[in-house]
Amino acid sequence: MSEHGRWRDVARAAGLLDRVGGTLRSTIFAEMTALAGRTGAVNLGQGFPDVDGPESVREAAVEALRAGANQYAPGDGIPALREAVASHQRRHYGLEVDPGSQVLVTTGATEAIAATVLALAGPGDEVLTLEPYYDSYAAVIAMVGATHTTAPLRATPDGFRLDEDALRAAFSARTRIVLLNTPHNPTGAVLERAELELVAALAREHDAVVVTDEVYEHLTFDGATHVPVATLPGMAERTVTISSAGKTFSFTGWKVGWLHGPAPIVDAIRTVKQFLTYTSGAPFQPAVAFALTDEGVRAWVAELAESLATRRDLLCEGLEAAGFAVVRPRGTYFVLADASAHLERHSLPDGAALCRALPGLAGVVGVPVGAFTRPGSAADEAMRPYVRFTFVKREPVLHEAIARLAALV
Ligand SMILES: *Cc1c(COP(=O)(O)O)cnc(C)c1O
Repeated sequence: MSEHGRWRDVARAAGLLDRVGGTLRSTIFAEMTALAGRTGAVNLGQGFPDVDGPESVREAAVEALRAGANQYAPGDGIPALREAVASHQRRHYGLEVDPGSQVLVTTGATEAIAATVLALAGPGDEVLTLEPYYDSYAAVIAMVGATHTTAPLRATPDGFRLDEDALRAAFSARTRIVLLNTPHNPTGAVLERAELELVAALAREHDAVVVTDEVYEHLTFDGATHVPVATLPGMAERTVTISSAGKTFSFTGWKVGWLHGPAPIVDAIRTVKQFLTYTSGAPFQPAVAFALTDEGVRAWVAELAESLATRRDLLCEGLEAAGFAVVRPRGTYFVLADASAHLERHSLPDGAALCRALPGLAGVVGVPVGAFTRPGSAADEAMRPYVRFTFVKREPVLHEAIARLAALV
């Protein structure tokens, strides 16, 4: 066995990767990025904006840096940011959150998710997510040794929707956390009030905590409204709400996130978070506090959502013209495209195979939705022909991708 192989086997991470099927996953993400680099393909795989957020927010970070915000920030986050989170939740959703005891600033939504699952679940517990799901969920559930259960989102003429029977069946007496995500990556679904009420009722019935990843809360289209679970009757007392500056303000590299929830739950999460990063992003925290409260920035975010809706339309039309069947997303950065026609034509087994062939066939890179499902699950089978493309790129980049995709037909 090679040295590399030997140490990889010894590493605990190897066990983790096996448990979450991460070997395949990380290989595909890395492979697609490398493929895009090597072939000069247009990369619609990775979901980050190719234009930065507002200049005023960037300047606020520069100012904070110059003014000396360069040492450890308080572990909870600076008071101005915790207050900005509370006022944002009040202004947008009518939620009353105490910035002193119920808000925690984190290293992106990713750390908020990890710290929450670490604080609330362990071996013997089940953590229920939608499927497909954001890939960090499966990893952190495996890290704590909990069991990952899922409820599928199904493609319908009305977008991806929760299946009530499957959702009910996914709950058990051991369900400790329901880890939701709306607006949803990768499907672009914005869960409706009725769907969320059903989840809420089942969570109450099974005495589970609902953790909601709402990082795309402001990026919805066609008048779709984001409903935070914490606003549903009786849910604030059992819900942890997570969001982040990355997607809302187009600064994905800053990694400033936050969570809020009932004080005793936030206490438990704080204990874990303390020993993950303790604190991070000192000069970015005042800038994000500014972004969350400034009216000019609020207008910028609304314009971003409108421009994303336009870019979604552009990419959806291009994909349809190129022989894909798209499920129109009502939020996020992503569209899922059913590539069945191309799989048949080129005798390819699944979206992963198409993604490997796509740079050669059309000079474009996407991500197979199989990267967001559990091998062998019902959702994995249903998602087999699907590819995720991002439209959070400048219009000329999308036009170029569409022109290239036209070569498929
Ligand atoms: C991007 C993303 C995250 C990660 O957010 P960070 O603030 O960058 O850590 C979490 N959840 C979903 C669904 C995402 O798409």
